[in-house]
Amino acid sequence: MADRYSKQRVFLGADRDAKLRSVSVAIVGLGATGSVIASWLTRAGVGHLTLIDRDLVEVSNLQRQILYCESDIGSPKAVAAKEILNRANSQVYIQSLVTDLTSGNAVDTLSDFDLIMDGTDNFEARYLINDVSLLKQIPWIYCGAIGGEAMVWSIVPPQTPCLRCLMEEPPEAGDVDTCDSAGVLGPAVGVAASWSATEAIKILTGEPPAPILARFDLWNNERQFISPPSVRCKFCTNQITEFLDDRWTLKATTLCGLNGVQIRVNPPGNLDLQNLIPRLEARTKTIWKYTPLTLSGNDGELRVILFRDGRALIHGEVTPERARSWYTEIIGC
Ligand SMILES: [Zn+2]
Repeated sequence: MADRYSKQRVFLGADRDAKLRSVSVAIVGLGATGSVIASWLTRAGVGHLTLIDRDLVEVSNLQRQILYCESDIGSPKAVAAKEILNRANSQVYIQSLVTDLTSGNAVDTLSDFDLIMDGTDNFEARYLINDVSLLKQIPWIYCGAIGGEAMVWSIVPPQTPCLRCLMEEPPEAGDVDTCDSAGVLGPAVGVAASWSATEAIKILTGEPPAPILARFDLWNNERQFISPPSVRCKFCTNQITEFLDDRWTLKATTLCGLNGVQIRVNPPGNLDLQNLIPRLEARTKTIWKYTPLTLSGNDGELRVILFRDGRALIHGEVTPERARSWYTEIIGC
């Protein structure tokens, strides 16, 4: 009789299909690519899935972030994603982490998995994932989509080259297109993430991953299969994980796809959000909205969301420097 996994089992075989029930996977970023990756891995029946995302669902996400509906706007993505995924497959144990991956928490957050999936939109997170991968010898899969392009690369230490073998340093801010500057097509996201999820099923069932970096330009009908460098970098050769050692206290980064800045504190704090309400309301002469996870309101032209771990999203015409000043001035650091 046909059961939930019968079609997949015909293709994979009983042993490899059963193996999926016992594996544990982390997905960092539950945006566009992360939504699709999480959907496939949940439906394929991985044993444990941990969803890590720092953001709330916004209306501009709905064009490509297929896990979310209009009713999810304002909810943490990791929480909304777990709810919809468990409706598709209640047999998968899903954990939601509403948190930001930093050099301070990356090792603790990502150490106990068979595979780490890149659902992020930024190189800061990818270099952290690469370092944890080298340190703990955990495979990870790079996945990116921008404009009409999709790019996927499986990195399995120590067998394969690492991210730094290809790009020793992250690109400078402003040197790469973002989904803000170049835009992104939803179906290109789907191709990248589905390719990535297929690679995941191979790695999790003991099959060799694709030995190449795959790049598709779906709009211009081009595809490239790029061999990673044959000479290994000193970082994966000697397990040097310098991104994990980067200690910072207050960091401001512009938001991809949105007009605004994110402020993060390291190590993550424990903001008493309720305690901040009188201070913020007195300053701004407006009502601020409190939930157990967030405090949000307006300060002049700026829309601000504060999180319990000390993080802030500041939307509006604001530079990282001004956002940092706002934070140190109002919240303190
Ligand atoms: Zn390397």
